[in-house]
Amino acid sequence: MLDFLNRYLMHPLMAWREGSPRLRHLRMLERTQFDPPEVIRARQLAAVQKQLWHAWNTVPYYRAAWTKAGVHPSDVRELTDLAAFPILTKADIRRHHRDLLSSACDIRRCRVKTTSGSTGVPLTIYCDDAAMHWKAACTIRSDQWSGYRLGQRVAKVWGNPEYRHFGLKGRLRNYFFDRAIYLDTLQLTDERIAAFARAIRRHRPGLIFGHAHSLYLLACTLQKRGLLDIRPNGIIATAMMLHDWQRVVIEEVLGCPVTNRYGCEEVSLIACECEYHHGLHINADSLYTEVTRDGHLLLTDFVNSAMPLIRYQVGDVVVPSLRRCRCGRGLPLLERIEGRDADYVVTPAGHLISGISLTENFANLIPGTAQVQIVQESITQLRIRLVADDGFNETSRAQVAELVYRTFGAGVHHEVELVDAIPPEASGKYRFCISKVLQERLQEASV
Ligand SMILES: [Zn+2]
Repeated sequence: MLDFLNRYLMHPLMAWREGSPRLRHLRMLERTQFDPPEVIRARQLAAVQKQLWHAWNTVPYYRAAWTKAGVHPSDVRELTDLAAFPILTKADIRRHHRDLLSSACDIRRCRVKTTSGSTGVPLTIYCDDAAMHWKAACTIRSDQWSGYRLGQRVAKVWGNPEYRHFGLKGRLRNYFFDRAIYLDTLQLTDERIAAFARAIRRHRPGLIFGHAHSLYLLACTLQKRGLLDIRPNGIIATAMMLHDWQRVVIEEVLGCPVTNRYGCEEVSLIACECEYHHGLHINADSLYTEVTRDGHLLLTDFVNSAMPLIRYQVGDVVVPSLRRCRCGRGLPLLERIEGRDADYVVTPAGHLISGISLTENFANLIPGTAQVQIVQESITQLRIRLVADDGFNETSRAQVAELVYRTFGAGVHHEVELVDAIPPEASGKYRFCISKVLQERLQEASV
């Protein structure tokens, strides 16, 4: 009953109050996802062409880069013509940040998203409001492929619960509207997982959502404690690689298929599994994707006009697919994501901290950090590899020490290693957090 009221009363009311057309978008997106692939491709082409002209006319970075490369928006008559355009890297975004903003957008009215993403490079992305509403609708659409229905309660296994940043207003909104239950991945203790399990059993959420490995840890705790009666309608694993051995345990314990969802802070949803769980459908309503010869994914976001990302190399390696999915959706498929692995670190007290949350903290809180990699050599020794820019000084070092102390306690030593660059692994993927302690434990668990 509450779910029904929330879906048909609270959600429309809230969208109306926020002036957000997301529910109208959602109705349309639910219809158009079944359009034939060629219709979807034609829509992408028109949207990409429009975005290229917008970037050429209002974004100084692209006009300069494309002029230098000898390309022009009028060259793109087919989507494949985009391959002649230069690639945008994370370093380009950091270096030319101001020049990537569109002069046609008022950035004071944009949402600001900061991320260290999966590479440990802190980035700030501006996204206009209209794009945020559209992307929110795309995300709700794919979330519902998991079996969850908008309006149902959600249990989130996530770092830094967002509602806490908004004080009383945030708590009220969460209590009456979002109704989310949180397990903070910065504090994954056995007791907290057990308390979260009790909350799930009491509130019966329609969706359990979180980092793949955190969901796996949750499932292990439930199994250990014999709590085998939790049956959500959907489970969504996101933000890191979902291993098959994790999927098996989560599905067995929670009695529900896991939906693997792939996205990033810079562009939001990239791709998501449908109810057939065979490959991930690309969010072709917001993005055009290309895959380089070495497997790197390039994203062209044709929705965000404040800071257009065109041929953006997001840092993940994927396997594309030409298959048609049995579900009948015309949205193209990715076979799988190859390289996206966030490690956890273990504190001497035995608590797990997610690498994403940890590097996010380091990258955002230490002034002068261009890139950071945290290596947990042993339970009491951390190596912090840091690529510094001009803002790095003695205060930054003191703040590193303070952050290590606050996060791990007094018994953990650290060493700051200033380096010119953090080399990627053989897969081409950067790993921002490597725990040698946890690796050994994971290998034991996966055998
Ligand atoms: Zn499908």
